[in-house]
Amino acid sequence: TRRGLAEELAALEGAQYGRYKSLVGRWALPDGCTLELVRGQADPYAPPARIAVHMPAELAGFPRELWETATRRRALASYLARGADRAVRGEKALRVDAGGQEVLDRSSCSVDGRDGSVTLRLGAALPGHGRRIDGREAQRLLTRVLPDAAGRALRYGALDAEAVRRFVHTVEDSVALRDALPGLGLVGFVADGAVLPRRSGVDDRPARDSGVVPFASPPELRVTVELPHAGTVTGMGVPEGVNLVVGGGFHGKSTLLRALETGIWDHVPDDGRERVVSRSETVKLRAEDGRRVERVDVHAFVDHLPDGSDTADFSTENASGSTSQAASLCEAVEAGAKVLLIDEDTAATNLMIRDARMQALVAKDREPLTPLVDSIRSLHRDHGVSTVLVMGGSGDYLEIADRVLMMDAYRPSDVTKRAREIASVPTGRRAEAESFPGVVPRVPLPASLDAEVRGRPRIRARGEDVLSFGDHEVDLRAVEQISDPRQVTGIGLALELAVRRGHLDGERTLAAGLDLLEEELTTGALLSVRDEDFAVPRRFEVASALNRVRGLRMRRG
Ligand code: ADP
Ligand code: MG
Repeated sequence: TRRGLAEELAALEGAQYGRYKSLVGRWALPDGCTLELVRGQADPYAPPARIAVHMPAELAGFPRELWETATRRRALASYLARGADRAVRGEKALRVDAGGQEVLDRSSCSVDGRDGSVTLRLGAALPGHGRRIDGREAQRLLTRVLPDAAGRALRYGALDAEAVRRFVHTVEDSVALRDALPGLGLVGFVADGAVLPRRSGVDDRPARDSGVVPFASPPELRVTVELPHAGTVTGMGVPEGVNLVVGGGFHGKSTLLRALETGIWDHVPDDGRERVVSRSETVKLRAEDGRRVERVDVHAFVDHLPDGSDTADFSTENASGSTSQAASLCEAVEAGAKVLLIDEDTAATNLMIRDARMQALVAKDREPLTPLVDSIRSLHRDHGVSTVLVMGGSGDYLEIADRVLMMDAYRPSDVTKRAREIASVPTGRRAEAESFPGVVPRVPLPASLDAEVRGRPRIRARGEDVLSFGDHEVDLRAVEQISDPRQVTGIGLALELAVRRGHLDGERTLAAGLDLLEEELTTGALLSVRDEDFAVPRRFEVASALNRVRGLRMRRG
């Protein structure tokens, strides 16, 4: 029988740092857990080693009801990762990726659906005296601190059972609420009492000052839903169709839209948005001048460019605000979006509106842009794509909106009737398009999506904004529904997986490839990547990243 981990570490005291690698493998700990050194650390300045702690089911002791569905396992694992993070907080060498306000599938913690055993994965900066192994400190860290933290954070008996249950039930209610939306003809729901504003632009926790106005639904849009745990919940249902949010500046329009944006994810208890949900096929759009576009049919919005380029098969290395937003819209629909969110604060005005006076001054044949106001009805009617637009600055949408919601001092009211009356007085504006023609499917060419640098995949995230993917630097600043820096790594891994598994094989359309990838995102291959912290993205974030790879080549399908 081989020596235990503690003895091995003691024996390595003072050895060359690289010898840590000789410990890669599984080690039984006295308390019944298994510690696995998944990946060693080459030198003290290299990325931390990767360690997994396996807590067997009989030790973990979680009742089956807490882990019998995938949703409950995700919630439980998220709760456990947060506790583990707190348990090792004092130890600078240990890093648990616990996540923020969203409850995502992530690699740091998982609960096994067969028996309820728990695996925690974390980074550990292995201790050294310079380039020599500090065996004594490593022994303390790996055979005492870590098992002790696991014992406190990953066992049911050591936890506040009520808090665990509340966390799991909150997530399950959120999923139930989201799943109920299509049957209710809704694209989103905001519960009465929800707290939408955040503490600051860089702090996603709920605002807590006394001026916070809890959400209160207008009677016309009030919907009642039965949830498995919370019971009867009322709130505002956002219906399918074209929804317009109006109101004065600073009255809470963007805050409401942002809550819907992040309603694709589940939130932790007391976030304030636990019962704010949107359909999982919801995509936020914005203008993004400078982005690249590869062979998108944008002619519904852009035509007769002065340089004569073909906008039905449009490519550019440097899109304008309006063409970037038009391309992003078409790409979102191509990827399967059913709900589009647009905020005037980040939209290209000339793609949104062109009023009667401007129509009179600039003839249509001198204006390449056809504003969204003329195809937005068709998007819903002919393509089943709903919209929620924040638009406080132009009344042209009043005529075509199915619903107009006014935010007034953070309180919404339904002003649809009044908007109709106002819109019944003609402005003289003429529609410039009959319908949205749909998107032309594209086939990504996998050779242009190479993740490898010198024979090895290179996938790195720089915050929430940049993904290094092979030789490519993908700018994700405009992909606003990424909710966690680790999701950027998840996007890179998903993209690499889609190519490696042949989902994007140069024959299949992007949409078909995403269908195949989607299955792997939560249940399959992606979560088996074990040596890296990442969180699972949606197909839409993966598609958005792909569309922003500078060297990407597409074929028209
Ligand atoms: P708008 O888009 O209408 O200009 P914002 O949504 O940007 O307005 O909100 C303006 C400010 O009001 C922000 O600082 C936001 O945090 C705050 N705010 C939004 N909703 C609420 C609310 N329900 N209670 C208190 N403050 C809020
Ligand atoms: Mg705003």
